[in-house]
Amino acid sequence: MTGTTLDDYTDRYAQRVRGMTASEIRALFAVTSRPEVVSLAGGAPFVSALPLDAVGEMLGRLGGPQHGATTLQYSGGQGDIALRERICEVMSLAGIDASNGASPDDVVVTVGAQQALDLVSRVFLDPGDVVLAEGPSYVGALGVFQAAQADVVHVPMDEEGLIPAALTEALATVASAGKRAKFLYTVPTYQNPGGVTLSEARREEILAIAERAGLLVIEDDPYGLLGFDGEPVPALRSRRRDGVLYLGTFSKTFAPGMRVGWVLAPHAVREKLVIASEAQILCPSMFAQTTISTYFATMPWREQIKSFREIYRERRDALLSALSDMMPAGTRWTRPEGGFYVWLTLPEGLHSKEMLPRAIAARVAYVPGTGFYADGSGGSHLRLSYCFPTPERIREGVRRLAGVLDEEMKM
Ligand code: PMP
Repeated sequence: MTGTTLDDYTDRYAQRVRGMTASEIRALFAVTSRPEVVSLAGGAPFVSALPLDAVGEMLGRLGGPQHGATTLQYSGGQGDIALRERICEVMSLAGIDASNGASPDDVVVTVGAQQALDLVSRVFLDPGDVVLAEGPSYVGALGVFQAAQADVVHVPMDEEGLIPAALTEALATVASAGKRAKFLYTVPTYQNPGGVTLSEARREEILAIAERAGLLVIEDDPYGLLGFDGEPVPALRSRRRDGVLYLGTFSKTFAPGMRVGWVLAPHAVREKLVIASEAQILCPSMFAQTTISTYFATMPWREQIKSFREIYRERRDALLSALSDMMPAGTRWTRPEGGFYVWLTLPEGLHSKEMLPRAIAARVAYVPGTGFYADGSGGSHLRLSYCFPTPERIREGVRRLAGVLDEEMKM
């Protein structure tokens, strides 16, 4: 039947499709791209800050007669060795290096960290398996775990990140239900959406708990190099060579349009990941990989990251000061030291998802907290991102949002 809105394929879908729902962020996209709306919703990096003339010239060269025969060809499933070497150089900034066993040989190049999450799920999860994840957690990871038909158990955080006692408790609860958690999925540094960072003291504690429980740790670290003060926070992986899989991406340090990320995994796991990736995509784009390794070999990437950090710091400051100037009493929010996001708790009785249409009508967008919990809780929270709009637009967005909150509180 054509022209019907009913889905004629319902009885033919695989089981796993039943749990699949469109992400709240994707649904917001159409609205937030309207110019009159100040979007504090999406997590789009500010790619206009890149030296686009030089990048464009490089892209032309890499696709041209000198390099095209290689860059436009298929390549190996694990990813190009030149890029895997660069990846090791980048990871060393987070303390992951040869001293803790990191080697290009154990890196798998992926189509963004998102494919890395999917590969990890394919390799480790059976339907009904339990995954532990921060509450709230990255919406794109929840989508992957849902597609794998895993059950996500959220572990609460505070300003210092994941709470160790809560992790122990979650492990006990899962065990008392006769199950075993396969892994802990965590974004320890400048968390999405929480905007908090796992403290130094807790890093060792969390790893020790995981080790005792035989719990694998999936460390997802897209924002680690985008801290606003001082040196990068050493990754969890820098403290353990076993039991931690580290996921990285060039989406925030270079450009998400390249769709290049990676996994660093223990040797045996690395082989499984490559096989799973070959089944899925054959190989990552050689053009994108060469672009990145050439960019990192020939352009001032450290200075570029520094300039990204300055841009995002200014925007974070703009958001935090606008919030403290304008938000009504009873509103709370986190104070990120890096990354893209602030997690806001609404005054008592307000619901971020119910309020969203009125916010959109007031020309401001955010992501309701409900998208970041597998069970759809989190309605008293919302995520604000400051990565894309200018400081002036951020302030205007907060002014509009404060107006919406004031109205809601009168209802
Ligand atoms: N993990 C986290 C925590 C993220 O915030 C994102 C992007 N928003 C990703 C993974 C996916 O990044 P990409 O696929 O672009 O590398």
